[in-house]
Amino acid sequence: MSISGNISEKLKSYNSKRSKSKTPEPFSSKDIDDEKLFFVVQKHKATALHYDFRLEVNGVMLSWAVPKGPTLDNRIRRLANKTEDHPLDYRHFEGLVPKGEYGGGPVIIWDEGTYFPEIELEDKSREQIKDKKKAEQVMDAGIEKGEIKFYLNGEKLKGSFVLIKTNGFPPGKKNSWLLIKHKDEYVLPDYDAKNYPKSIKSKRLIEEIK
Ligand code: MN
Repeated sequence: MSISGNISEKLKSYNSKRSKSKTPEPFSSKDIDDEKLFFVVQKHKATALHYDFRLEVNGVMLSWAVPKGPTLDNRIRRLANKTEDHPLDYRHFEGLVPKGEYGGGPVIIWDEGTYFPEIELEDKSREQIKDKKKAEQVMDAGIEKGEIKFYLNGEKLKGSFVLIKTNGFPPGKKNSWLLIKHKDEYVLPDYDAKNYPKSIKSKRLIEEIK
C-alpha cells in the first residue's frame, strides 16, 4: 500500500483533529483486521535515536518511545516514554520524515507482528487473550491501571513482556513507563537492540534511508 508519500500530512491532520476533541474518534482505517492485533517497533533517528514501540488498541497505535530499544534480557528495565497515539496505518511506515517537521529523520521497521494481551492467573502463570474484543477490553483496563502484559509474535521480539507505569518517576516525568521482558523461553541475556540494526521489512540500516 502506498502510504509513505502522504504519511506525514496524514499524521499532522490526525493529531490536530484528535487534540481538538476531548473524546477523539479512532483514526478510520481499512487496515483493521477482524481477529488480529498488531504491534510495530520503528527505529527512528529524530533529534535523538529511539525506538517507537506501538501496540494496536481500539483502532489506534498506542505509542511509547524507548530510547535504548526493547530487550530480550529479562534483567533489564527499559525506560519507555508514552507518546501520542498514532494512526493504525502508520505501522507500515518506513522512510524519511521530512526535515523541519516534528520527528524529522529516518524511520525503519525494526520489528513487527501480532500480539496477545495476557492476564496473570492465581498461580502466576499467564494466559493469552486471543479474542480481539476481549483482548481490547483487557488492554483498556491495563492502560487504566498502568500495567499491561502482552505476548509478542515478532521476528525479533518474541514472548511475554510487561509495560508498567512508573507513576511520576523520575520526578516530573508523568509519562514514564518501563518495558520489561518476562522470563520465558525467549529470554536472551545481554540482548541489545543496536546489535540487530536492520529493518525486518527491507533489510536496510537506518543509515541507508535517505
Ligand atoms: Mn519517534
